[in-house]
Amino acid sequence: MTQPSDVQVRALVLTQSEDRKVTATFRDDLTVDDLPEGEVLVSVEASSLNYKDGLAVLGRPGVVRKYPMVPGIDLAGSVLESSDARFKAGDAVLLTGWGVGEGHWGGYASHARVKADWLTHRPAGMDAKKAMALGTAGFTAMMAVMALEDHGLTPDMGEALVTGASGGVGSVAVALLAQAGWTVVASTGRTEEESYLKSLGAHEVIARSVLSDLKRPLEKERFAAGIDSVGGTTLAGLLACTRRAGAVAACGLAQSAELHTTVLPFILRGVALLGIDSVMCPPERRERVWARLNSEVPQVLLQEGVHEHSLSEVQTLAEQILAGQVRGRTVIIP
Ligand code: NDP
Repeated sequence: MTQPSDVQVRALVLTQSEDRKVTATFRDDLTVDDLPEGEVLVSVEASSLNYKDGLAVLGRPGVVRKYPMVPGIDLAGSVLESSDARFKAGDAVLLTGWGVGEGHWGGYASHARVKADWLTHRPAGMDAKKAMALGTAGFTAMMAVMALEDHGLTPDMGEALVTGASGGVGSVAVALLAQAGWTVVASTGRTEEESYLKSLGAHEVIARSVLSDLKRPLEKERFAAGIDSVGGTTLAGLLACTRRAGAVAACGLAQSAELHTTVLPFILRGVALLGIDSVMCPPERRERVWARLNSEVPQVLLQEGVHEHSLSEVQTLAEQILAGQVRGRTVIIP
């Protein structure tokens, strides 16, 4: 009988040379003994491509904390062996965040050994591909929706705006908000994606520049809620035209990590800026987020917005996602 220790491991491995150049190499000569420590050995059935993975694979600073590193910030699969009582062989699991793929070997491999604390049982009926079709981006989008709800916002209060709408977080956010009954306005740099965004449930599609060109600290009030994955002048513009007592969930920095604005939307309109951190989200909340994703994500998102690729294509895909050319979600099959 094959013991887990005999199992061969395929992985994309990032190494850094003395002059700090990062190289990605596909390896198929590793064994589970090469994997980092952890209580649970997982057979990885799917991972996904996120903006952060693009940064890691291309060696951009600020993501990978040590080398060699297997990137892939999320994964789904089944447990092969576990020394932690919460998991047993055969359990269907998923993992997002916790610094996996940044400081601990991640999902771009056939196997991963991880801490039991980081794993979530997959909801019943959610296979590994569906889990990663949603992945970190979908998880983040649902966290943002729940943050807006926790703030007391409901669809009858007005329109909801989603920025970076054709991307991973954005496309899932459009679909989830529309499914929940919101009138969704999608902001995108790719107006050619209008029919795709409308198929996800967007009521109206506006050009990226509509928000990023706004200059005044307070603009005409329009949106009751917002989910932003781009930051920069787009987020500043969105805050300026958010309605009284509305809120914006800030998820990302695809445009810029900077935010130049004034306090006026906050103190004159009671607007709230809600920060979304999917990486360190506590385990109990993770289970609630995944359960809601499993039951609420519309089928159209999984049919229209998901593409499957192999590990060997990751480097090309990394360039595309950083160039803002990837539509929807990309599942990686190791
Ligand atoms: P994607 O690349 O899939 O989506 C980002 C989208 O932003 C693009 O598709 C594009 O949408 C838009 N965009 C890209 N460049 C620019 C630009 N220069 N100006 C304005 N808009 C731009 O990435 P993800 O969805 O995976 O991640 C989105 C962001 O959220 C990233 O910054 C990521 O790091 C962050 N993130 C944060 C998490 C958290 O826990 N807070 C978790 C997951 C992601 P369009 O073409 O429609 O305009």
